[in-house]
Amino acid sequence: MIVMKFGGTSVQDAQAIRRVISIVKTRLKDSPLVVVSAFARVTRLLVEMAEEAQAQHTSEVKDLMDKLRERHEGVCADLLGGNPDLLKETSSLVGAVCDSLEDFVAGVCKIGELSPRSRARIVSTGEVLSSIIVNAAMNENGVVSHWADARTLIITDDNYMSARPDMTLTKANIRRVVPGIMKGADVVLTQGFVASTTAGATSVLGFEGSDYSAALFGMALRADRVEIWTDVDGIRTADPRVVPQTQRLERISYEEAAEMAYLGARVLHPLTIEPARGKNIPIYVLNTMNPEGEGSAVVMGEGIPDGPKSVAFRDEIDFLVIESSQIVGVKDMLSRVFRILDDCRVAVSLVSASESKVSLTIPAGQLHTAEAVEQISEIYSTTLYKDKAQVSVTGRNVVYHQGLTSGVLDIAGTVYMVSVGANLMSLSFVVDREKIREIICGLHDMLFKTE
Ligand code: ADP
Ligand code: ASP
Ligand code: MG
Repeated sequence: MIVMKFGGTSVQDAQAIRRVISIVKTRLKDSPLVVVSAFARVTRLLVEMAEEAQAQHTSEVKDLMDKLRERHEGVCADLLGGNPDLLKETSSLVGAVCDSLEDFVAGVCKIGELSPRSRARIVSTGEVLSSIIVNAAMNENGVVSHWADARTLIITDDNYMSARPDMTLTKANIRRVVPGIMKGADVVLTQGFVASTTAGATSVLGFEGSDYSAALFGMALRADRVEIWTDVDGIRTADPRVVPQTQRLERISYEEAAEMAYLGARVLHPLTIEPARGKNIPIYVLNTMNPEGEGSAVVMGEGIPDGPKSVAFRDEIDFLVIESSQIVGVKDMLSRVFRILDDCRVAVSLVSASESKVSLTIPAGQLHTAEAVEQISEIYSTTLYKDKAQVSVTGRNVVYHQGLTSGVLDIAGTVYMVSVGANLMSLSFVVDREKIREIICGLHDMLFKTE
């Protein structure tokens, strides 16, 4: 069997969903389990709804709720208009999910409090809605599709918005339940992103986490491959939204893909690699708009050449420089700093450390960054920069690539930190954010331009 995951733009409207169905039809002999994301931009709308509810803005919440219903009802009507019974049945399922969300959000509005648990409950709705509609559309188009609820299959800890699965329980659940749902079906249709805690409350695997869901299903079901269907022709030498002329990477290793994802390339969620690598399941990145294209394969590293594979970046970071008043004989600085970050559940991207100085980059948008910085500044002299970005060149043994650092210095002018990946798979630089695009394009030209 195989797993096929379709991201938000791949299911953004009726036309896109018809395209998905025709792609799935080409794979029926492989017994696909299909994982879908929320329709494009729906998760963002739900995040906004949760925040407006917390702020007790009832009329804004109502507007968002109306938008959510209209969008999903419109797609239903378009896809199922030819089958009034199925349309009625599906619309009532969609309506029930929206009614239940509306009740829940009204409760949040009333008390003006939003726990991570309530937030996860709200933002998970997009995948539930999209999966109900895509499932019905498959059946309407001659593909026998059975719906599975990922919330009963992927079981996580109670870090609701960035929940981590209990692998043993998750694997056992999927192996016990999915084969039964598969019986008599061409495909099993389920959701990315959503899960639930051992206590049964809804949790989510972190934004962009549907890729990770696909890999978890692939691992548990020992899939022959995992296909990630998105809006680009495979994994490329840089983000095509930033660099106009990128090249497709035909094959890269699990480790290289993990490194570029971890350093900001959003084409794959960083956690996706591990479950697939553990069972040696290839991951293919394919384009819904160009299904005949070859895409990219993420596989074991044998036979894949060394050297630069891609330029990745993160422009939404905080850059933190921590210094001790002593320059020698400083004890435990790194461990004290990391204990605080760990206690505050703040994740770090890059680190560079000497005995008396530690520089770090912290991906933005984390709940407790300010608290961690305050605790660190009670012990050490600390400066927080909000106008920096990080750029990385990734690929196996890339650190040995001649002229890389001097090239970056030539392009960037000033570099505030250099970090060598401990696995020698990346070389990263902290630079001025206002120059980031220019630097990415310059670096990409230097490394990959052919003529
Ligand atoms: P989906 O909704 O299908 O999960 P995403 O938007 O999360 O899609 O991921 C696809 C996007 O990743 C592309 O549109 C592209 O802008 C971005 N991206 C960033 N780096 C790369 C890269 N090296 N190769 C391909 N795409 C990349
Ligand atoms: N819908 C979720 C998000 O937008 C998960 C995903 O698309 O991967 O983050
Ligand atoms: Mg994504």
